[in-house]
Amino acid sequence: MTSNRFKIGQSIGIIGGGQLGKMMAQSAQSMGYKVNILDPDPTCPARYVAHQFIESPYNDLDGLKQLSDLSDVITYEFENINADTLKEICAENHVPQGHETVGILQNRLTEKEAIASSGAIVVPYHKVDSKETLDHAIVNLDYPIVLKTVFGGYDGKGQLVLKSAEQLEEAYNMTDSAVLVAEKMIELDREISITATRNLQGEICYFPVQENVHRNQILFKTTVKKEHAYTEQAIAEVEKIISKIHFVGTFTVEFFIDKAGKLYVNEIAPRPHNSGHYSIEACDYSQFDTHILSVIGHTLPESITLHEDAVMYNLLGQDLDAMENHFPEHPEWHVHVYGKEVRKENRKMGHITLLLDDKADTYYPIYKEKME
Ligand code: ADP
Ligand code: MG
Repeated sequence: MTSNRFKIGQSIGIIGGGQLGKMMAQSAQSMGYKVNILDPDPTCPARYVAHQFIESPYNDLDGLKQLSDLSDVITYEFENINADTLKEICAENHVPQGHETVGILQNRLTEKEAIASSGAIVVPYHKVDSKETLDHAIVNLDYPIVLKTVFGGYDGKGQLVLKSAEQLEEAYNMTDSAVLVAEKMIELDREISITATRNLQGEICYFPVQENVHRNQILFKTTVKKEHAYTEQAIAEVEKIISKIHFVGTFTVEFFIDKAGKLYVNEIAPRPHNSGHYSIEACDYSQFDTHILSVIGHTLPESITLHEDAVMYNLLGQDLDAMENHFPEHPEWHVHVYGKEVRKENRKMGHITLLLDDKADTYYPIYKEKME
């Protein structure tokens, strides 16, 4: 695709209408493109910023064909689309991201195998699909262990931290219903991630290294600074991975750093990521802008400039309840509310970005007083 083939007024079809689909759509629209959204939920956040909305299950071939007929290019906001269904759509439509990468990354086992085979370092793990294989994993890895379902987990869902033999019954039960990965639980010093965007021409741009704090396995806070001690090492790991796994679009690699300072690749999201949301205000291009540029075949910026050091806090249901009355007095809090109909505990309802020269320390003291 030449760099000027995608014309203003052409349309982008997005599979999934959550907050990531909404923010992708907003970027695309600001560049002059139309956006069509497919989602099973007629009240999903992206519906209200879409030119056309198709209410359909993600894996329904008819719905996906309808989306394809309306759209000049197809992308997705999440990786749990059935890879076989996506393959059929790829056969007849322009889906620059393809289906192979989703197929590999939506399964924690094939994901880890692919990362390890690239030479990047992953946390020691075993496949678990029976009591016997769980016993074997425990002997090899030793407690504490994190058990994760191979398919479909997010925000810590589908995970069990196995600290001792006392929890064996619960763990055995888990093996009855799903294939699992047993992972050594790392004593974490820090968690970081790096977001990058690659286009079909092979150009790649990197966002700054993101330091992430999780609470209850859900991202709580991301901090970015102009410099980070792990930048070179993190990019080197990403380069190994992209030599093995084909990426187009925005993707994020999550890392663990243990107490000895050793870096491990945790997982990869082949889409814009929660830890990259600060880029909307803090960078010259957001992770959604570069995603759209890449899927429409444009040239990418050579590098991303972080205008200001920044911090992003997620607004879960309970955070929004506690904090929304304070929004009117804090114009320095860049508030994003996704527009989900139902506000629930631990559901991601929005986020706040603060630029560090922008009174960043005004948010947390209030949050602390309300929540802790
Ligand atoms: P999800 O798909 O839910 O994001 P992750 O594997 O990234 O799943 O796990 C969520 C969080 O749980 C991680 O960011 C980390 O804080 C914690 N965690 C997961 N696996 C491990 C591990 N092996 N060692 C230490 N912490 C872990
Ligand atoms: Mg994760």
